[in-house]
Amino acid sequence: MIKDIRKILIANRGEIALRVMKSCRSMGINSVAIYSEADASAPFVKFADEAFCVGPPPSNKSYLNQDKIIEIAKANGVDAIHPGYGFLSENADFANKVENSGIIFIGPSSEAIQTMGDKLTSKQTVLSYDIPMVPGLNEAVTDVDDALDSAKKIGFPVLIKASAGGGGKGMRIVEDPSQFEDQMKRAVSEAESAFGNGAVFVEKYITKPRHIEIQVLADKHGNTLHLFERECSIQRRHQKVIEEAPSAVLTEDLRAKMGAAACDVARACNYHGAGTVEFIYEDGNFYFLEMNTRLQVEHPVSEMISGVDLVEQQIRVARGEELSFTQDDLTINGHSLEIRVYAEDPQNDFLPDIGKLEVYKIPEGENVRVDHALEEGMDIPIYYDPMISKLIVHAENRDLAISKMIKAIDDYDIVGVKTTLPFCKYAIDHKAFRSGDFDTRFVNLYFNETEILNPNDEINHAAVVGLFHLNKMDLISDNNIPSKSSDWKKNRS
Ligand code: ADP
Repeated sequence: MIKDIRKILIANRGEIALRVMKSCRSMGINSVAIYSEADASAPFVKFADEAFCVGPPPSNKSYLNQDKIIEIAKANGVDAIHPGYGFLSENADFANKVENSGIIFIGPSSEAIQTMGDKLTSKQTVLSYDIPMVPGLNEAVTDVDDALDSAKKIGFPVLIKASAGGGGKGMRIVEDPSQFEDQMKRAVSEAESAFGNGAVFVEKYITKPRHIEIQVLADKHGNTLHLFERECSIQRRHQKVIEEAPSAVLTEDLRAKMGAAACDVARACNYHGAGTVEFIYEDGNFYFLEMNTRLQVEHPVSEMISGVDLVEQQIRVARGEELSFTQDDLTINGHSLEIRVYAEDPQNDFLPDIGKLEVYKIPEGENVRVDHALEEGMDIPIYYDPMISKLIVHAENRDLAISKMIKAIDDYDIVGVKTTLPFCKYAIDHKAFRSGDFDTRFVNLYFNETEILNPNDEINHAAVVGLFHLNKMDLISDNNIPSKSSDWKKNRS
């Protein structure tokens, strides 16, 4: 039976809230925003058909306030809740509460979220499907001697991982058996304090890892397919900053194998909706890492090469529709790159650089997409992730996509905060990236922060010595320079 969805509440903020609302609008569905006091005048709030304040700025009082969000939804005739990414998107309790209150949760079942939310449970769940796994243990270890024996069998270096870990936290690399006992004790106590669950396991540390993930889509009628891969190996602090589709290294044969394995992972947990199966790749081999049971930040690159609107598909699946296309209908069209523009200083260890967007001009052009929810003059709130936007390009092939991205980065003008733009330009233009021969160690191996010039430096410098760069100057009024400079200093202190 197809359920009626006429009004969707988006339990999120910023660019992803706006992104979801755009698909709602194109499907003739009304959107409801919830916002914290810090976001009262944000573009996603203005774009929504209805908007309700959910609480004060801190996330735990607003975007994580499950009961308040459900209360707003019930009081306003909402049919379904879309959780976006982050916040409550992978919270099985929330999914359960939403469904129990008679509202559709746009995502998988709470059981699937629960199963895949724990690294060991997810490994155990997919065991019967013959999915390649990183050599290592599939069970928690508590005894140090047993764990050391296993580590020796696996072969050093090994990685001690917290089963409940996430966001790149709770992992320890051990190079040598003599360090094992000490590192294991630290890993257990870190896992206990960070996740309230001290379970750890050991796996082989892959020394030249590439992060390649598969976008899956499944309906509630047993149809599961994949929308190819995304390469997300350019990371800082174990977090992605540049993504592309397709990957520069996958052969057709490997792509088919990884796609089939990802679909099996989805089947193993009775998945429905859009999800991502993450693999680690090295020298032609791939190993299952985990499944993310939600829409990913980097989903646009898959949309660009497949022509599929993933949010629309999530909503259709939630309604109970069957997928209207099969695996054979899908082909890769061209190449897409995405960079995450964060308010961070790449010359200072990527530390957040919060402030006002004194000048904010986005690049334009055919197949240049900017997913964002900020406007010139706005402050970047200190309470949330400092992502300003995602800049996405699509072109006929990888080389053309690289050229297009470099041009788009040059056309992007942000004054007021330091951003990852200059780093992304450096990385995309680097010969290792251009050749496709890189892995997650890219930043450590190749990034020298003195090699990039932050456009803000350029402008500050210009303001001081009176030598203005013409291309920037035609965007900046005289008033902006001094206020910007003082703000900049204030932000740095
Ligand atoms: P999280 O849930 O914290 O994101 P993941 O298991 O997805 O943890 O791993 C995050 C990142 O850590 C991966 O993208 C990869 O770069 C690295 N990583 C994870 N497992 C291994 C491994 N066995 N060997 C080498 N690197 C790994």
